[in-house]
Amino acid sequence: RVKEKWAATRPKYPPTTLALQHFDTAYSAELGQLWPSVRVALLSERKYGALLNNFSHHDVQADLEVQGCRDFVSSADKEAQPCLQEESSCVAVRESDVGAKQQSPLPLSLNIKCVVFPRGDITRFKPARPDMHGLLGYYLMDAASVLPCLALDVQEGHSVLDLCAAPGGKTLALLQTQAIRFLCVNDASVSRTSRLRKVLHSYVPKQFLTDGNLRITSFDGTKWGEIERNSFDRVLIDVPCTTDRHSLMEDDNNIFSKSRIGERRRLPQLQLELLLAGIEAACPGGEIMYSTCTLSQIQNQSVVEQAICLSRENHGIRLEVVDLRPLTHMFKKTFHFAPSLHLGEMVIPHLAANFGPIYMCKLKRLT
Ligand code: SAM
Repeated sequence: RVKEKWAATRPKYPPTTLALQHFDTAYSAELGQLWPSVRVALLSERKYGALLNNFSHHDVQADLEVQGCRDFVSSADKEAQPCLQEESSCVAVRESDVGAKQQSPLPLSLNIKCVVFPRGDITRFKPARPDMHGLLGYYLMDAASVLPCLALDVQEGHSVLDLCAAPGGKTLALLQTQAIRFLCVNDASVSRTSRLRKVLHSYVPKQFLTDGNLRITSFDGTKWGEIERNSFDRVLIDVPCTTDRHSLMEDDNNIFSKSRIGERRRLPQLQLELLLAGIEAACPGGEIMYSTCTLSQIQNQSVVEQAICLSRENHGIRLEVVDLRPLTHMFKKTFHFAPSLHLGEMVIPHLAANFGPIYMCKLKRLT
């Protein structure tokens, strides 16, 4: 029975309802006829992937494969050749700032493995168990969240900055490469940073978590460019966003609640400032990955467009947009991608492969 007091204070429109109303208006315009099926998927149970922990002594991959899972990374269609000669649907920003389109296959970060159940199979993973050293065998996350880490192309000896890192799923994926010379992990929230610290200690042996190879901070990432410029080979900027799936499912801590209207409206500006700071933190020649878990064009393509222009105007930094179409061709059997975005790529939720949304756009610093 519903308690009366609770019923009296319950908002007429809970945040999840407000989120759905907002998405219906915005996304039916942005996604057109795709929206009804994306909407159904967003309102249904999401699918997880198990990021395998290379540091664990449990051979969980074999166990999971017996259950019908497969590593979507190694079983990708590596032969699938992207249609790089196709007529491009680029807008002005891509043509003027990108220069020549990349013609070579996209290099991916090595050693990252993430197993998923087959299309249409919604079996849930069991919780991971610790090995004899207490390290867990896998980390459950949206498998599409692994794509920005793969596409970041972390190579041996790189220094990497993860600017908005908590609770740490993508940090863990980057660490699986075992190629990083120095990793800087930051999140403005102190409580979320301590959660991130716990995650790292549950998955990574102590010798990989020393001051010499890892720095964990809780700074406001928008200020990063002021303190550490031109430093990192790779920068991941996984910004706070409207977290579309969470906003439709959970009234607690929902960015669509009335008390958070201002915060929600300020998101695109915060995202822009974080991306600009990440671009400044990368070294010339370095690569930057911008990612979100929203379908919103204002938080995705518009932020990247503005950052490209402002980096050039205010800091003289020229950027190239890296073509991620090879990635979408390789992984099209596992994920549904939005067709022909003018900037970046996006995994869109689908009932048979209910991952995402994940938007990603990769930039390379030319100067
Ligand atoms: N990358 C994380 C992962 O894979 O587990 C998820 C990051 S979440 C999408 C965005 C994070 O940005 C939140 O943890 C939030 O605390 C952090 N954040 C918000 N504002 C920030 C700021 N100004 N500087 C740095 N981090 C910020």
